[in-house]
Amino acid sequence: MIHKILIANRGEIALRIQRACRELGIACVAVHSTADAEAMHVRLADESVCIGPPSPRDSYLNMAAIIAAASITGADAIHPGYGFLSENAIFAEMVEDHGLTFIGPTAEHIRMMGDKITAKTTMAELGVPLVPGSDGALASLDEARACAAQIQYPVLIKAAAGGGGRGMKVAHNEAGLEEAWRVARAEAKAAFGNDAVYMEKYLDRPRHIEMQVLGDGFGNVVHLGERDCSLQRRHQKLLEEAGSPAISAAQRDALGATVTAALRKFGYRNAGTLEFLYQDGQFAFIEMNTRLQVEHPVTEMVTGIDLVAEQIRVAGGEPLGYEQSDIQFRGHAIEVRINAENPETFVPTPGRVTAYHPPGGIGVRVDSALYAGCTVSPYYDSMIGKLIVHAATREAAIARLARALEEFAIVGIETTIPLHRMIVADASFQAGDYTIHWLEQYVDHLRNREADALD
Ligand code: ADP
Repeated sequence: MIHKILIANRGEIALRIQRACRELGIACVAVHSTADAEAMHVRLADESVCIGPPSPRDSYLNMAAIIAAASITGADAIHPGYGFLSENAIFAEMVEDHGLTFIGPTAEHIRMMGDKITAKTTMAELGVPLVPGSDGALASLDEARACAAQIQYPVLIKAAAGGGGRGMKVAHNEAGLEEAWRVARAEAKAAFGNDAVYMEKYLDRPRHIEMQVLGDGFGNVVHLGERDCSLQRRHQKLLEEAGSPAISAAQRDALGATVTAALRKFGYRNAGTLEFLYQDGQFAFIEMNTRLQVEHPVTEMVTGIDLVAEQIRVAGGEPLGYEQSDIQFRGHAIEVRINAENPETFVPTPGRVTAYHPPGGIGVRVDSALYAGCTVSPYYDSMIGKLIVHAATREAAIARLARALEEFAIVGIETTIPLHRMIVADASFQAGDYTIHWLEQYVDHLRNREADALD
């Protein structure tokens, strides 16, 4: 049994975890940097500890300070949220070595999936289909050339330790391969301290469809359906849906059966997400995230399952207690990410929020730590909130989203809300007719239209 959880994160996700703790009757401790002393996750926590200066390296990534905060406050578990230390196997080990519970998978499983090459090899052995590509890491440019000749251009060079779209470069032909090889390795080295890269066929019009899973470490694993996260800019998701407008319930069941069978074989514990590219009726695995995802609320809305509460339960040693047939999918949910960014240039816009009015009404959920008078800090990710809607059908969810976006007022800083208003009004989006390239093309089209109007 877990009695007190230290939440090693900030912003909306720290609040999200606090809410689950409250409902479960578990006490919670917030940690914060000096920049976040006034933040909502600190104001609403039972207790809080300052763990360092603004720079994430000195605070939210400072493992020793976080473990010390847990022992000072008598917490018996740590929830890492997403980002920061959530997929750091060394941190998970440290937490357990100090006699605390890490609310996540075992360090061994984090390590296995954190290296994308090992993740792909493991999944392939367990019968999960992959994107065609190199057999493991590429040792040299010559090996990359040979692999590209075999799988055919365009190809993608990807970092084994990759994340956040970094260390990923496309080569459209042999002339472009050397540069893609060089830049991907340099970026991977700078971002992850590891320049191992591998190659995948670059799919020209896939959708990004991912499967949410939940395991208890005793071999019970269920899936909670798919999310379509194809609306991306620079490989960063901006809008997510559950379910995908592109696949049928039968396809969901089949993919769900494949992934749960694979995870059962190694006794996965915690929430997890297997990401796939989907093109021409085929799914191809790209990576697994061994943590809660930003977009988890859309799955919660269609299944009625509180994923954070489930993470806490299974980390505390409880079995799932239900089976696949107990999980029902109801209606459709859409999430949009509200970023403190200029909606055309995507340049971050930190500053003071002078007025704040979130939308409400039936089927509307806002996960955000904003309040009128708060300051959006330049030190952290620009995502400042998520608007999630749920309705009986996709069409009704879109109408609800458009209505909620109209109501949403964040004054004082620019946000991506105006872009979302345009996307929901677009005919191709409404038809569900989009791939991972759609949003970038859409943004270019908006810019050109504006340039033409100015001519
Ligand atoms: P990261 O961990 O850096 O986010 P992923 O492997 O999850 O990297 O890929 C992120 C995004 O990059 C995908 O959602 C997709 O849009 C694009 N992508 C990845 N692999 C391919 C591929 N083989 N072909 C085309 N696009 C890809």
